[in-house]
Amino acid sequence: MAELNVTIHKHDAVIVGAGGAGLRAALEASRSVNTAVISQVFPTRSHTVAAQGGVAASLSNVEPDDWVWHMFDTIKGSDYLGDQDAIEFMCRMAPEVVIELEHMGMPFSRLNDGKIFQRRFGGHTKDFGKDAICRTCAAADRTGHAMLHTLYEQCVKSGVVFYNEFFALQLLTNEGHVVGVLTWDMCNGGFHIFHAKATLFATGGYVRVYRTNSNAHINTGDGLSLALRAGLPAEDLEFVQFHPTGIYGVGNLITEGVRGEGGYLLNKDGERFMKRYAPTVWDLASRDVVSRAMAEEMRQGRGCGPKGDFILLKLDHVGADLIHERLPGIWELARVFAYVDCTKEPIPVVPTAHYSMGGIPTNRFAEVVLGGMDGKEEVVRGFYAAGEAACASVHGANRLGSNSLLDIMVFGKVGGAKMAEFAESLPEHVPLPENPGKEGIQEVRKLLDTTDGERMAAIWDELKDTMELNCGVFRTEETLTTQRTVLDRLCERFKTVRVFDKSLAYNLDLIETLELGHMLDFSKAIVEGALARTESRGAHYRDDFPKRDDENWHKHTLAVMEEDGSIRLDYKPVRMKPLTVPTFEPKERVY
Ligand SMILES: Cc1cc2nc3c(=O)[nH]c(=O)nc-3n(C[C@H](O)[C@H](O)[C@H](O)COP(=O)(O)OP(=O)(O)OC[C@H]3O[C@@H](n4cnc5c(N)ncnc54)[C@H](O)[C@@H]3O)c2cc1C
Repeated sequence: MAELNVTIHKHDAVIVGAGGAGLRAALEASRSVNTAVISQVFPTRSHTVAAQGGVAASLSNVEPDDWVWHMFDTIKGSDYLGDQDAIEFMCRMAPEVVIELEHMGMPFSRLNDGKIFQRRFGGHTKDFGKDAICRTCAAADRTGHAMLHTLYEQCVKSGVVFYNEFFALQLLTNEGHVVGVLTWDMCNGGFHIFHAKATLFATGGYVRVYRTNSNAHINTGDGLSLALRAGLPAEDLEFVQFHPTGIYGVGNLITEGVRGEGGYLLNKDGERFMKRYAPTVWDLASRDVVSRAMAEEMRQGRGCGPKGDFILLKLDHVGADLIHERLPGIWELARVFAYVDCTKEPIPVVPTAHYSMGGIPTNRFAEVVLGGMDGKEEVVRGFYAAGEAACASVHGANRLGSNSLLDIMVFGKVGGAKMAEFAESLPEHVPLPENPGKEGIQEVRKLLDTTDGERMAAIWDELKDTMELNCGVFRTEETLTTQRTVLDRLCERFKTVRVFDKSLAYNLDLIETLELGHMLDFSKAIVEGALARTESRGAHYRDDFPKRDDENWHKHTLAVMEEDGSIRLDYKPVRMKPLTVPTFEPKERVY
């Protein structure tokens, strides 16, 4: 391979990821320090753009609401694994960050009195679980689109420097600080180092590792694996959310907003089966509950279609006018991917891998933290994480719908402010280490130089299929042990993987191979965490241990990657003390 130069860029704050979390952080940081954003795709193509249903905030526009109710729902939804200080912080800040977006020009849908439109969403209730509530603020069913474009405009206005189509390869550390990141220029080829006083990862989620999923192709958990490779822990990776309503056969999402607007699920007998699983809120129970109920109906032979392998989502009864006004994107998705006109017929749906509750551990200021069972946390200097790549942990074992767009606004904003504060406190950049990015550079060189070995595609296919089969909605010791062996085998095969395309410009064979390496790394952490956790909590359901076990498992998992690539598990306590209100003690979840 021809010799490739390494170009060095220097900024105060460097943010990897241009989704909602990355852009909100960049906007905040750029108000006081020189800020750059690196993204694998053009910013407005980040997965945030696909978010449909809305962002939760107790604005009380439709009916009286209270941030404490929102907090209670989030804790209960998390199956009591969420950190209560961070949850209080987020729910209290929700109205502020949503109104800020409105003032930036985000085109929310409106009520007749001109206020922001709010709809019902799963798990969001009034008065501590009494009934469903309208808390989710929406721009039709294209809320993420409206949010991301608004933020991008604001960042351009605020002078943020964008490096689009740069792929992060390695986190750089020196003298106990994170000092930036090594990247690959996807358009032209070549290595670029971004030397920073403060670095934030907002690289999004990791559920592309499942065959049926609702996510963008870029959601391969890169940031997570780069952190693991730098010796940092990953938190609660075994908690992967399966959204109840992915389009049968493809996985694309049908927002929970459909059920919020009155849609409901039917089994093959035409029965609204959710009343048996969640007698109070029926179809608006939290996602883990609905997904499992659907999977259970299919296991019991009550699925629809010739193979009994889907459930029907009926919404024609809400009326064509409402569907075209509030759910236009859903109408289009159902038409294109399921070939149905949902104003007349139900949509065939299955649970689809949707969201990563786990991520890089942070405190409520988006500062990356280390810490174990003694409950003491130590901040990693110069390193921040926000959004789906991070684990604050506000979603615990299960995220409530519309709480992620909220999470990315709150922790993006706070993270950006903290980065700026830290960068301003450092008179100089901490120097780069000797031979910065050596490992990342070698990894790319090896892939481009090797002329022998197999293609990545077959390994990726097997990884997705087996993760879905063995580490999906239902898990047992047997399936997880099988998956551990599969992963060992796939990792061995990956050692001799070959990139067939040797060009430097827009080499997607190279990028996808690098992504596969990342997915193999964090999949080991998902499986080890799931195997060790002998209980069922939130999205993690063990057929062989169907009960939640607070005595032994009311704690967060931390996975650390050893030098030989194996995973060591550690744990840390759930932060049970909110900031101002009394603790919500774990209770059985009834919907
Ligand atoms: C279909 C769908 C609908 C959803 N609807 C809702 C909803 O209605 N309400 C809600 O609250 N939540 C919703 N969610 C969840 C929510 O949208 C996401 O969790 C959230 O947008 C994630 O934002 P983020 O900023 O963390 O990451 P993303 O928006 O995923 O952005 C990740 C960024 O990281 C960059 N990146 C990744 N790897 C690299 C690399 N190696 N090098 C450089 N850059 C990299 C990418 O280019 C991208 O810019 C939905 C999710 C999906 C998939």
